[in-house]
Amino acid sequence: MPSYAYFRKQFVPLSEARVGVMTHALHYGTAVFEGIRGNWNADQQQIYIFRLKEHYERLHNGCRVLKIDLPYTVDELCQITVELVQRCGFKEDIYIRPLAYKSSESLGLRLHDLDADFLVFAIPWGPYLPDKARCSISSWRRPDDNVNPPQVKSTGIYINNAFAKTEAVENGFDEAIMLTPDGYVSEGSGENIFLVINGKLVTPATYNNILVGITRQTVMELAQHELGIATIERQIVRNELYTADECFLTGTAAHITPVAEVDHRLIGNGEVGEITKKLQKIYSEVIRGNNPKYLSWCTPAYKK
Ligand code: PMP
Repeated sequence: MPSYAYFRKQFVPLSEARVGVMTHALHYGTAVFEGIRGNWNADQQQIYIFRLKEHYERLHNGCRVLKIDLPYTVDELCQITVELVQRCGFKEDIYIRPLAYKSSESLGLRLHDLDADFLVFAIPWGPYLPDKARCSISSWRRPDDNVNPPQVKSTGIYINNAFAKTEAVENGFDEAIMLTPDGYVSEGSGENIFLVINGKLVTPATYNNILVGITRQTVMELAQHELGIATIERQIVRNELYTADECFLTGTAAHITPVAEVDHRLIGNGEVGEITKKLQKIYSEVIRGNNPKYLSWCTPAYKK
């Protein structure tokens, strides 16, 4: 099935969306991106785009930091994205990739005096991680806010994540867990991390150099409202990972992925924990538009 992109203010076949070799963002990482999921609901023959608005709000915030003058409002970006998904017509889980980038074909290291543009495309994309992930602590640390702000989903910061992911995979693991510069647990290379300790959820705080995940926020709300479980946001030391009752990763691509082991130490008995299992079940219904309570988080792509 052909895919499309919204590129230079129009919809074109994905294969025709091309930038020049001198594009600023290609050289200096001067772009902000998002990853959004469209979840296929076969019974309803519908794709539900999950928390579309929140993703574009985060993109807008990142653009402010990178001095990208985005010529679209959040609402306009949502409309463009829905139309894109309609045009693609996929009948499976998809991944939507918006990118706001410094588009000037001009060299020179800076954020000022550059044009910016926005593009978005969608592709079919199934599971990102295995059903249970084997993780290792990365030798690569998350950068500090005054080095490269981790709360901005800038392309330039993601070389850090790529170092971590490749190190983990080449060492035989599925995913890396990165620490902060001062050695506290931060997050996975593309996911936030949660522990279950004594029946409560514990997750690194925003000041622990994390990307503040939309799935993280979703899980915290679902845990509270559906299971009555509170989440404590605090610094976590490495040792707590090894001894947690349960551990899971959250992200748009990874959904809720249980962690079976960290650094060759089983988490619990290495099986999916009870609270993780419950959250996975609730979450999978919510993102496919099967829970009426949370339909406001789901944007249907197809007209009925
Ligand atoms: N941390 C990093 C480094 C990520 O790349 C992602 C994926 N966007 C996340 C956390 C999770 O964020 P979200 O739940 O918004 O996808």
